[in-house]
Amino acid sequence: MAGLNKVTVDDIDVKGKKVLVRVDFNVPMKDGVITNDNRIQAALPTIKKLVSEGGKVILCSHLGKPKNGPEAKFSLKAAAERLAELVAPTKVTFVPSDKVVDDSVKAAVDAMQDGEIIVLENTRFRGAEETKNGEEFSKELASLADVFVMDAFGSAHRAHASTAGVTKFVKTTAVGYLMQKEIQFLGNAVEDPVRPFVAILGGAKVADKLNVISNLLEKCDTLIIGGGMAYTFFKALGHEIGTSICEDDKVELAKEMMDKAKAKGINFLIPVDNVVATEYSADSEWKIVDSDDIPEGWMGLDIGPKSRELFANAVKNAGTVVWNGPMGVSEWENFANGTIAVAKAVADSNAISIIGGGDSAAAVEKLGFADKMTHISTGGGASLEFLEGLELPGIACLNEK
Ligand code: AMP
Repeated sequence: MAGLNKVTVDDIDVKGKKVLVRVDFNVPMKDGVITNDNRIQAALPTIKKLVSEGGKVILCSHLGKPKNGPEAKFSLKAAAERLAELVAPTKVTFVPSDKVVDDSVKAAVDAMQDGEIIVLENTRFRGAEETKNGEEFSKELASLADVFVMDAFGSAHRAHASTAGVTKFVKTTAVGYLMQKEIQFLGNAVEDPVRPFVAILGGAKVADKLNVISNLLEKCDTLIIGGGMAYTFFKALGHEIGTSICEDDKVELAKEMMDKAKAKGINFLIPVDNVVATEYSADSEWKIVDSDDIPEGWMGLDIGPKSRELFANAVKNAGTVVWNGPMGVSEWENFANGTIAVAKAVADSNAISIIGGGDSAAAVEKLGFADKMTHISTGGGASLEFLEGLELPGIACLNEK
């Protein structure tokens, strides 16, 4: 498996042991109801394996970004209930504690039978102790367990107490199946791609993705840039961009990236036309213009029809496609067509297709193309850091084979 030399859940004996598993149950919620349980489903293979082997499975995760300490709307209770439905008749107990770990939690863990599951409360209820990788909280989590399993790919790019700190105080650590799957697909795509390798990047912020672009330029055959970030590249080419979003302090770097692509003989594609609007709103007036013809006072909110065709053709014969970020403001119908066209092109191609979480994953799922993709990552930020070529802290800290 590409780049993975870690102890896995297949290498450890968990019978009768307390196994703390960091899962990613950071699921979208509306009014206390889970609107998409993909992340819980994705954690099931590891959980079921540990349960079937007689482990005492203790799950921890964060949910959302509680800023004012513990709050009911950020509780993991709903996630625990959904899990209970999915693993029935396995016993799942949610142990609510604003401290996440306290004496009542320890007592509940001590009373566990083999093959049972406990779900702890949201690790971010401990605030900075979690997000700043606090030693005390890391020790408390570790005190519950004989073994630590990391299966939260979506959080593996953060060195938090529950993803990294805890590993300092538990001797036996391992990666779970979801982590293995993510690392295998993303790692192979970048390190050993079936060629031609086409990378597609979109979304609003160039700053977030410059290092990804730089790394991918070392690996891919075609790099496609769409979405709001394209306008910084337009500016670097000297085009007028009206009121389109632009990161002026990144224009020089955008130019460097295009020069690098040219020097390396990489097919570097940016939109040739755009859907421009008079204001940033779902029902704004809009029209289609070429990229060197954006009128003053108009902003680009999607790629135009010629660009959709250009990008779709580049994807058609690809061996591998990695896609992260929408081609426009895909939340709004009038500006979603570029993202839909790319999703369709990737779904129709025979390429190994890797969708890097976030908005592009949401678009693929909404369009019903999920089954046509090779892999949809559960981690937007984590998959981007992976594509950047970085070692994720939540992986680095785990035991090697
Ligand atoms: P990111 O978080 O950088 O991946 O960006 C995702 C966001 O980019 C989505 O919410 C889109 O609405 C937004 N976006 C995509 N294209 C544009 C654009 N042309 N102008 C403004 N926002 C955009």
